[in-house]
Amino acid sequence: MNIGVLALQGAFIEHIAILTKLGVKTIQVRLPKHLERLDGLIIPGGESTTIGKLAYFSGLMEPLKNFALNKPVWGVCAGMIFMAKNIGSDQPTLNLMDIVVERNAFGRQIDSFVSDIHVSVFSNGCKNPFKAVFIRAPRLIEIKGDARIIAMLPNGEPVAVREGIWMATSFHPELTADNRFHEFFLETVLITSKK
Ligand code: GLN
Repeated sequence: MNIGVLALQGAFIEHIAILTKLGVKTIQVRLPKHLERLDGLIIPGGESTTIGKLAYFSGLMEPLKNFALNKPVWGVCAGMIFMAKNIGSDQPTLNLMDIVVERNAFGRQIDSFVSDIHVSVFSNGCKNPFKAVFIRAPRLIEIKGDARIIAMLPNGEPVAVREGIWMATSFHPELTADNRFHEFFLETVLITSKK
């Protein structure tokens, strides 16, 4: 299994470290040709305006959209913004997931926080909450069409969604030692590659 991590800006090294620990081969994606032999792709957190502009100038916008048609993609924080259909502002996005997202909606860098979240797609997700790190996180304002909530804050606010083979989390699972989100994504990749 080859997993790509979009490596234009942001926290891509941390994802690569976790995937490597899980025994998965990774490829840093900076150009369209790097998508060729991948089974799935992670779009890391960082700054969505920068990631969008760099993807645009690297000729990656169409190749990324085409890749996502039949391969699992997981967007983390800025990656969630980059995958959303509606972010209420004008910056390059892939326009994939049927979600309305508000950038920086939990406040500034100094308002970053860690919270237990309940994850419905983990077998032990309710008994064993996931410690989620939120850094200038986007808020999920609306979840439409086939998109489904898979994780919530204790107050019931949605913070992760899934739509078919795509997933988006408004927090950073690569910054904690709990690998369940990475394992869950790898499962999706494995199932999709067998179809
Ligand atoms: N605030 C950033 C943005 O709007 C996202 C922050 C993050 O990825 N941690 O792109």
